[in-house]
Amino acid sequence: MSVAGSLAGSFAYPRASAGPSPSPSVLPSTAPDSPKAAYEQLMAGNKRWVSGALQHPDRDPTRRELLAHKQEPYGVVLSCIDSRVPPELVFDTGLGDLYVMRTGGQAVGPVVTGSVEYGPLVSGSPLIVVLGHQRCGAVAAAYQALKGGKPLPGNLRAIELALRPAYEQIATKGGVEPVESMARAQAKLTADALRGNRDLAPMVSKGTLAVVSAYYSLDTGQVEVLDGAPS
Ligand SMILES: [Zn+2]
Repeated sequence: MSVAGSLAGSFAYPRASAGPSPSPSVLPSTAPDSPKAAYEQLMAGNKRWVSGALQHPDRDPTRRELLAHKQEPYGVVLSCIDSRVPPELVFDTGLGDLYVMRTGGQAVGPVVTGSVEYGPLVSGSPLIVVLGHQRCGAVAAAYQALKGGKPLPGNLRAIELALRPAYEQIATKGGVEPVESMARAQAKLTADALRGNRDLAPMVSKGTLAVVSAYYSLDTGQVEVLDGAPS
């Protein structure tokens, strides 16, 4: 059995023996099923977020009922905990559209990486977006701690250590806005690692999965793609 197959079996939520069991056909047939289509749909949603012409799709009781027994999100977004960067809003999506993971500075460890893998491996989600952002407090705190050699307290230290590769990449380059450079580096390095990940790399090679790194502007609401956009 494939990794995806065995995972699907392991994670499948047991269905109640009674009650209606909606067929997959009730799920919207318009959901993107390729990396490029998923990417274009998310970026179109971000354009609406920037312009204010929001559609608020998939946010009604009918959608909730259709999804009650089955979900097939077309995108996975790994972003920061920052209250100003909620993926569902900045991409103008709704219920059942995205798997979302949020950690300080998109710091990853095995639990987070496993959660990101879940979408592509179990649901066939064709797109992962790693979204850094402007004026990231987690990145700024890690930058200061690493630069000054004063570790962050308690569990924040784990975030600092997870962001150290991004710090090391920008520390040698300098630049006028090192924290912004570090936020971009963090998104790119995290996307690189996911692309090369043992379980995801074969899907990327086959073209059934794209991993995009991106940077969100608090000032404009715009998502700027850094690399990995599907062509
Ligand atoms: Zn942040």
